[in-house]
Amino acid sequence: MYPSHSPRIAVIGAGISGLACAAALAEAGLAVQVFEKSRGLSGRMSTRRADDWQCDHGAQYFTARDPAFRAEVQRWIAAGAAAMWEPRLRVYAGPGAANWTPHVSSVERFVGTPGMTAPGRLLARGLQVHTEVCITGLRRDVAQWRLHSADGLIDGDFDAVVLALPAPQAQALLGDVAPALAALAGSVTMRPAWALMLRFDTPLALPFDAAFVNAGPLRWVARDASKPGRGPQDVWLLHATPDWSAPRLEWPPEQVADALQDAFVALGGARAEQWQLHRWRYADTERTLGQACVWDLARGLGLCGDWLQEDKVQGAWRSGRALATEVLAAATAPRVRRIDFGSADYAATLQLREAVLRAPLGLTLSAQDLRGEDTQWHFGLFDAAGALLACVVAVPVAPGVFKLRQMAVRADTQGQGLGSRLLAEVETRLQEQGATQLLLHARVSAEPFYARQGYRAESEVFEEVGIPHRRMGKTLRTPERG
Ligand SMILES: Cc1cc2nc3c(=O)[nH]c(=O)nc-3n(C[C@H](O)[C@H](O)[C@H](O)COP(=O)(O)OP(=O)(O)OC[C@H]3O[C@@H](n4cnc5c(N)ncnc54)[C@H](O)[C@@H]3O)c2cc1C
Repeated sequence: MYPSHSPRIAVIGAGISGLACAAALAEAGLAVQVFEKSRGLSGRMSTRRADDWQCDHGAQYFTARDPAFRAEVQRWIAAGAAAMWEPRLRVYAGPGAANWTPHVSSVERFVGTPGMTAPGRLLARGLQVHTEVCITGLRRDVAQWRLHSADGLIDGDFDAVVLALPAPQAQALLGDVAPALAALAGSVTMRPAWALMLRFDTPLALPFDAAFVNAGPLRWVARDASKPGRGPQDVWLLHATPDWSAPRLEWPPEQVADALQDAFVALGGARAEQWQLHRWRYADTERTLGQACVWDLARGLGLCGDWLQEDKVQGAWRSGRALATEVLAAATAPRVRRIDFGSADYAATLQLREAVLRAPLGLTLSAQDLRGEDTQWHFGLFDAAGALLACVVAVPVAPGVFKLRQMAVRADTQGQGLGSRLLAEVETRLQEQGATQLLLHARVSAEPFYARQGYRAESEVFEEVGIPHRRMGKTLRTPERG
């Protein structure tokens, strides 16, 4: 997929998934740039800061069950960016004292220190992060990606792009360039949540630090100052349920704050001297996609985030790391390159075509074979060391129609899926250049191979270079938009 330089990767979104992915890629030596629309890093792992108080208003804490994520959390703790939080935790099931129960569990809860953004900022160390850059469009141009922001075209091009965004924001960017992936992101529903931060002059005398609330508009309340490394101010965070938040997303802030403070008073809390409100449009996911990440090798386009497998901090981090593994595997995997006519790579394709397609028939490449090749499109599949493994020629025969010819796979690498790899990527590239229809003359012995790639027989058997062939064709479909 990548050219011979160190692969350049754009990561869009500096939440924990994007930063985990970018950090792993940068560590492996890839040239990574991160683009983030907000001023700060860490996305929904966020901390609101005012003059003399602060409050985590997105993710409240994280758990770490996965061994790799546990090890990462230990690294954050060692760096002073996280610590265990052991709140006095209650569950509220409805009005009346009997409906309050202690929450007993052995689950370890962690928070960022001194705020929830700290792990993200740790991951971002040494990375090239462009904040306050909102990416508004993607364009693929001769196997390279160009990015648009609200201020115009971003400098430079990229071999691969990672979208580390909530599903609806990924869907919006994918619409024009990868409709099938846009539809996939569009199949996921993310739900909103109102978050209200309350600052009290006098600390509240409540017998708990946090509570799971299972009745009324709220679902969670927490005393931010009970978390390690926070200041002395008594600040409480209230999260509303998605069912309450969704129909009230456009309410005026005062009305939302009023309703949620009423609900807090009903839990034994009080109205605050000062409040701030935040509307999360994409707080959690109704049902995740059930896969760690999405990676389109032919286009060099990946998706990660909490909506893919687990809508938690742990899930977002794991998704970013899983995608980094795919991107890195592509960096060492054989890659397709367009080849210039007359170049050394072109000479290598002639040798391969001669060895695979002509010598076994007792022939050499003829003048007829090579006629018009200066205007034809040549593609090669190369290994990481630059050796040619397979090649094919595409001839533009009519608007939107290409004929593929002279497809050859090196004898010692046949049976490894390289032919289908080359064909799939060449099809994608031709489609990006406007192709809708592909034709080829397949040797009858290779007919099953092309049939597996979606080519249909279109003629009776005929003879070419002394062996039976059949004409086959494939219509390149634009995936339906979701
Ligand atoms: C209210 C709430 C409570 C939560 N509670 C918990 C909890 O207690 N425990 C837990 O584990 N998890 C919790 N979560 C979930 C957790 O915060 C997320 O799972 C995790 O932070 C998601 O990370 P992410 O990288 O997938 O996405 P995000 O953090 O959303 O990162 C995406 C980033 O992309 C940026 N972006 C978007 N569009 C563009 C664009 N066009 N160009 C550039 N940048 C863009 C955004 O600004 C953002 O920074 C909670 C979330 C919320 C909102």
